[in-house]
Amino acid sequence: MKYLLLYNPVSGRQSFKKHIALVKNMFAKTEHELDIYESKKGNDLKEQATKQASMYDVFLVAGGDGTINEVVNGLMQVEKKPVIAVIPGGTANDTAAMLGIPRNLKKAIKLILEEDPAMIDINRMNHRYFIYAAASGVLSKISYDVSRRHIHKYGYLAYVFAAMKDLGKDYKYNLTIECNEQKLNLECMMVLGLASKRVGGMWLSNFANSKLNDGLFEFRIFKRHHAFRVFRLVSFFLRGGRQLKADYHFVSNKFKITANNDVNWNVDGEFAMSGSIDIEVYQKALPIIVSKRVKKRSF
Ligand SMILES: [Mg+2]
Repeated sequence: MKYLLLYNPVSGRQSFKKHIALVKNMFAKTEHELDIYESKKGNDLKEQATKQASMYDVFLVAGGDGTINEVVNGLMQVEKKPVIAVIPGGTANDTAAMLGIPRNLKKAIKLILEEDPAMIDINRMNHRYFIYAAASGVLSKISYDVSRRHIHKYGYLAYVFAAMKDLGKDYKYNLTIECNEQKLNLECMMVLGLASKRVGGMWLSNFANSKLNDGLFEFRIFKRHHAFRVFRLVSFFLRGGRQLKADYHFVSNKFKITANNDVNWNVDGEFAMSGSIDIEVYQKALPIIVSKRVKKRSF
C-alpha cells in the first residue's frame, strides 16, 4: 500500500522532524511505500490533502487537532478518500485520544499498521468541516489564545492557566437554537458541542452517549447564572460533563444557531467563524484508523 506522511513541523512542544527516521525505519520493514510531506504554511496540508488524495491508500497525519482538521477539510472536497491514520503530535491531542491512538510513536505506528479502518462521522459548521468539537463562550478561545512560546515552556499547564483567567470573565450572550423541530431562545455563557467525550485534554464520561458513526452530534448550552458561575463550570468538568439543572442538552444530525456577529465559534480547537451557524453531520464520511477498544465502544 502507498502511505503519505503529512506533518506540521510546528505542532505541540517538539518538532516531529526528529521522529521521521524512526517512522522510515518501521516502514522499511514492511511491504508498504512511504512518502513524506512537510507543511510549508497554514492551510498547506488542506490543499495537499485534496491534491494528493487519489494517489495514496493511507494518509498518516502527524500533529495536533488543528493539523488533522486541516487534512480532513481537504479530504471532504474529494470523492475518493484515502484512510486517515493519526500520529499524536500536538499538546491536547483530543482527536488521537478519542480514536485510541497511543501517545508513544512506535506503538501508534504498530497499531496503524495492524488495524482496519472504521467509517467515522464528519461534521460541518457552515463551510468548515470538523471532527469532534464546536464551542463558543467561556473557555472556547483558550486553545488559540495561548501563545506558542507558553505552550513550549509550560505544555498543557499553559492551557490551564489560560482557562483560569477566562473563568474570571462574565460571558453573556443570546442565541436561538433550532433542532428536532424545536426552537429556543436562550441567554447563555457557553455552548459546547461534542461528537465524543473528549475535549481540551479531558474526558467527560458523563457528557453524552453518542457513537462516532451514529450520524448524531450533541450540544450542551450552559445557561448564564450570575452567581456561582465559576463554581458551576468547574463542577461540570469535575463531574465528567454531567448535565446540571437549567442547562440544555440537544442531540440531532442538524442544528441551526442564530447569534450576533460578536459570538465566536471554535471547531476542533481553532477559531472558525463568528455569528450564526448551521451544523450538519455527515454520517460515516471518512475511513479512519481506531484502536480495537474504540471500535468496540464508540462504533
Ligand atoms: Mg455521534
